[in-house]
Amino acid sequence: MIYLDNAATTKPCGEAKKAVIQGLECFGNPSSLHRAGLEAELLVSHARAVIAEALGASEEEIYFTSGATESNNTAVFGAYKAHGKRRKRIVTTSVEHPAVKNPVDELEKQGCEVVRISPDENGEINSRDIFAAVNEDTFLVSCMLVNNETGYVLPVEKAFSMIKKKYPDVLTHCDCVQGFMKLPVKAKKLCADMISLSGHKVCGPKGIGALYVKKGVHVPPFMLGGGQEKGFRSGTESVPLICGFGAAVEKLSPLVSENYERVSGLQRYLIEKCTENGGISVNSRGGSPYVTSIAVKGLKSEVLLHYLEKREIYVSSGSACSKGKKSSVLKEFNYPTENLDSTLRISFSFESSREDVDGLMEGISAAQQALCRIR
Ligand code: PLP
Repeated sequence: MIYLDNAATTKPCGEAKKAVIQGLECFGNPSSLHRAGLEAELLVSHARAVIAEALGASEEEIYFTSGATESNNTAVFGAYKAHGKRRKRIVTTSVEHPAVKNPVDELEKQGCEVVRISPDENGEINSRDIFAAVNEDTFLVSCMLVNNETGYVLPVEKAFSMIKKKYPDVLTHCDCVQGFMKLPVKAKKLCADMISLSGHKVCGPKGIGALYVKKGVHVPPFMLGGGQEKGFRSGTESVPLICGFGAAVEKLSPLVSENYERVSGLQRYLIEKCTENGGISVNSRGGSPYVTSIAVKGLKSEVLLHYLEKREIYVSSGSACSKGKKSSVLKEFNYPTENLDSTLRISFSFESSREDVDGLMEGISAAQQALCRIR
């Protein structure tokens, strides 16, 4: 199997699988006062410490959630609950994941004014445009770090640092799902008040994520109940999933720059092979090496995707969430219209290899011969 759809989800690493089992065996409730509870609590604390360190944060700033969708909803609706009565403006981008886009759209329906910054004609988002959209009436700026469909890296650090200097009360939120454990993401450097993370994008299990909330920043909880996670996220902690997430981060964290170099080389190899093919254009360049958007001339994405699937080559036609629907994000990036229907997203993990790329290129060439001839 050639799996090149790692932006949709990653294969859990061995360390994560082992840790999940350890978390299942240590079945106490972390809130219980007896030893079984304490043992579970210690596992949760260890994972929290690992994730905090990877993010350059302190343990009290990490809250476990059910995934980045919940983290993003908590950040956006929490910011609104905290400040939305007095201030009305949200600044975001037009290329956010639905887990930010949809909560923001919902707040727009409820009367917020939303400014969405779009990429320019070169497909770039300018930090000054984000900054310029912020005014005294703004309560939240939400901007992702790496776009999940194209790999484009947004100028979050530049934008947030300018914003925080002039408007220290504006909350800054970054969806770092596609950047964490791939780029050197550090909370303070990013000038973010809140950061969303997901376990299954970093070789951990699904159904677990985290929200970093900077010390001193007050946003109300999204989930009310038993008061777990210091009252910020009620619900019994999923010890097995938290252990798996922590173990994956513990494994990948020391390897971020080494993996970045290796995967950058792999992306260069992929682009070289696409250029040699002659019938493939590369939509995205210069972003995260983990995600590459390409278009295969004359072939519809879905048709090609299923052709490749028969050869056990797994890629995506856009993002996993856009399932069959045309991607509005690709349009936002100003890719040529003729590329939009024939775009494939190739996304690497730290384990991807040149052999995977070779297999993919053979599969695409075979599809070009078989399907272009039929048409
Ligand atoms: N944000 C981005 C950028 C993503 O790519 C994804 C998943 O595709 C999410 C948020 C949602 O993450 P989760 O599956 O953990 O809810």
